Amino acid sequence: MSHTAFVRVLLVEDEDRLARLVQEGLRQEDGIDVDLECDGVSGLWRATEGVYDAIVLDIMLPEKNGYQVCRELREAEDWTPVLMLTAKDGEFDEAEALDMGADDYLRKPFSLVVLAARLRALVRRGAPARPAVLCCGSLRLDPALSEVTRHGRTIDLSRREFALLEALIRADGCVVSRQELLDRVWGMDDEPASNVVEVYIRYLRQKIDDPFASEGYRPIITTVRGAGYRLANDLDFGQDDQR
Ligand code: CA
Repeated sequence: MSHTAFVRVLLVEDEDRLARLVQEGLRQEDGIDVDLECDGVSGLWRATEGVYDAIVLDIMLPEKNGYQVCRELREAEDWTPVLMLTAKDGEFDEAEALDMGADDYLRKPFSLVVLAARLRALVRRGAPARPAVLCCGSLRLDPALSEVTRHGRTIDLSRREFALLEALIRADGCVVSRQELLDRVWGMDDEPASNVVEVYIRYLRQKIDDPFASEGYRPIITTVRGAGYRLANDLDFGQDDQR
């Protein structure tokens, strides 16, 4: 076995036997140095205190689950690559792990060879680039932190509202059709009778436009009759927008 690059990994896993097996196995076979923590709170603490090339996070953990640990790391602007260990019973969604800011996942039970290969790949890739903040006028959407602000004020959105706004802001001023939004945000290809888009557009307006209207700011979310919705730059006074 080659011991080329020295790799340091933090493993947060509450099954003691499995944790020690992984620790020993990676150390002996792959020259990967593994630190262990067995609950979410100490795992998060160790992750922020130490310097690791990658973090392996179990999802079901005492004190704080793996999703929360990952999310809090990202909120603290820590971009250390995270590999999540997901359970085989499918109780936890792998897509959810990636949503929470994980870079990869591995389903239990896994082989040490596969784990080592995945870790090396993650380390080679390095810490992911921080996703860019998206802007439209005074509105800022930060995909990395799942945060939205307008004029610097934080706006609390549900996950669905956030996804809808993200789809609109990524269109960069172009019209997005109702069907496209249904498809992208709800994963419905063929649901012509649904008015869920209209309902959520209303929710978004109540949070993003209504509070600022009384201060004289123009609405950002605009309806383009018969075509869909687009976001209008509220700081650009060169054009008229209909609501
Ligand atoms: Ca566990």
